[in-house]
Amino acid sequence: MIDMDLQGIGMTSRRTRERLVQRLRDQGVANEAVLNAVRDTPRHIFIDEALSHRAYEDTALPISYNQTISQPYIVARMTELLLEGGHCDKVLEVGTGSGYQTAILGQLVDQVFSVERIRPLQEKARQRLQRLKLYNVMLRHTDGGMGWPDKAPFDGILVTAAPREVPTELLSQLAIGGRLVIPVGEEEQTLKRITRTDEDQFTTEVMEKVRFVPLLSGTVR
Ligand code: SAH
Repeated sequence: MIDMDLQGIGMTSRRTRERLVQRLRDQGVANEAVLNAVRDTPRHIFIDEALSHRAYEDTALPISYNQTISQPYIVARMTELLLEGGHCDKVLEVGTGSGYQTAILGQLVDQVFSVERIRPLQEKARQRLQRLKLYNVMLRHTDGGMGWPDKAPFDGILVTAAPREVPTELLSQLAIGGRLVIPVGEEEQTLKRITRTDEDQFTTEVMEKVRFVPLLSGTVR
């Protein structure tokens, strides 16, 4: 049976998604695999119904618990930065939130591990990812500042909430050649890409100004 709600109609239709993809292209997103994943992913199921007509606007939207689903441009850009520069089979995401970024990653890499500190958000994300049959995604309820040591090393780590400083735990869980894409700062945040070039060597690229919710410690049940 075809799941009609996944297909979308009107403001959530394929044509509407196509316009979003064009917009991301215009803003410089060039990785075709990433653009295809955005085209194929029904963002409207990651948003409360009252706002789902705005799902394909290029904007962040509120989810519950004072959190937001990231802007499609930033999701696409961060994914592109993560995939650039080498193989990327195993990825850790910190801040599952709605699960939208997780779903994009799940279509592009072999294995995604994603952690979230707010349990009810994680549970909702889990249902959506199952509905999309993304079985290569593993979720965990934990404080992601600690990463996921048991599953390390990762080829890529993508953080969707901003710490004041880069958590050293995350750096230590990168494989050699692995990349950490992370927003850093308080009022003023910048997106950084940190590559582990050797056991104890890292290079940092400063990408662009961004705005994320803060990375908080501890968990919420
Ligand atoms: N990628 C998500 C972004 C959600 S906002 C999406 O597109 O929907 C950032 C998320 O990071 C929030 O859900 C917040 O609860 C979570 N978060 C903040 N600090 C965290 C931490 N220390 N560990 C795990 N998750 C955290």
